[in-house]
Amino acid sequence: MTPFTYSAPATVQEALQAYGQAKNPRFIGGGTNLLDLMKMGVEQPAEIIDINQLPLKQIEERNGGLRIGALVSNTDAANHPLVRSRYPVLSRAILSGASQQLRNMATMGGNLLQRTRCYYFYDPTFQECNKRNPGSGCGALHGFNRIHAILGQSPECIAVNPSDMSVALAALDAVVQVRGPKSEREIPVVEFHRLPGKTPNIDTNLRPGELITAIDLPAISFGRNSCYLKIRDRQSYAFALVSVAALADVEPGGTVREARIALGGVALKPWRARRAEAALKGRKLNDETLRAAADSELRDAHGYEHNEFKIELAKRAIRRAVKLAAAQQS
Ligand code: SF4
Repeated sequence: MTPFTYSAPATVQEALQAYGQAKNPRFIGGGTNLLDLMKMGVEQPAEIIDINQLPLKQIEERNGGLRIGALVSNTDAANHPLVRSRYPVLSRAILSGASQQLRNMATMGGNLLQRTRCYYFYDPTFQECNKRNPGSGCGALHGFNRIHAILGQSPECIAVNPSDMSVALAALDAVVQVRGPKSEREIPVVEFHRLPGKTPNIDTNLRPGELITAIDLPAISFGRNSCYLKIRDRQSYAFALVSVAALADVEPGGTVREARIALGGVALKPWRARRAEAALKGRKLNDETLRAAADSELRDAHGYEHNEFKIELAKRAIRRAVKLAAAQQS
């Protein structure tokens, strides 16, 4: 690990000032991803700004929904009574990720910012990685690409976003609150992460020097009719091959009023399945409509030597997750 300086400001304003005056700084919350990357030599910040003293650890009701502070731990968010009762899909998604020890340390803001687990990105002894070293190529494209993307990828990068939490947030239409040196702004979660395009080295639409302060969950009348389905190589402490966060509002006669579907493990951002949602809205929920919806969402999917199976897996996962979500309806 390369040497770095350390500071621990007490206010958001001080943290933003410290960041603005530093050379190659990083904010650190739980550190569960950043420290790994520093040990591997992927991240080499000159200054670490510890934000754990900032007053961003509250969960409070707001406009009929919830505001979750950026420094709330993943464990505390997942186990909060209002998250469990109103947004169980978020609770289940968080609890399906990592281990209990990691969830105790990891923060909500940090989870949004965790970086891909592409093997080639994590190991600097591999020369080819456009995300780590722009212009060097993509080692995964013709390498071992079992965990890689099938949607939204580019010839420059086929990595996926590893977060379970972000998939649920995308389905819930959550909004990220951000503070910069001069102003505050909101970024919908579905617009927070970026597809790789020609700049796979840029993960999010956060601007340099901006700090995540909170995540807002809007009110939703059918939050309990939900499911987080995660398919992985082993039952715990593994990233998703494919995951689905699904919410379904279905009339007593079986017609879908609204469906919300987001996919994980398939793209470099949580993939909101708008085509599938549109194909379900106003139709009877049955095997035929579910099949048509899932097929339409994966119509443009493209696999590689080791991950072609994900296309069919994603279709089946969508069908099953929406059925399970609708079955929660009381
Ligand atoms: Fe790097 Fe992306 Fe290629 Fe992985 S998929 S090697 S992160 S460019």
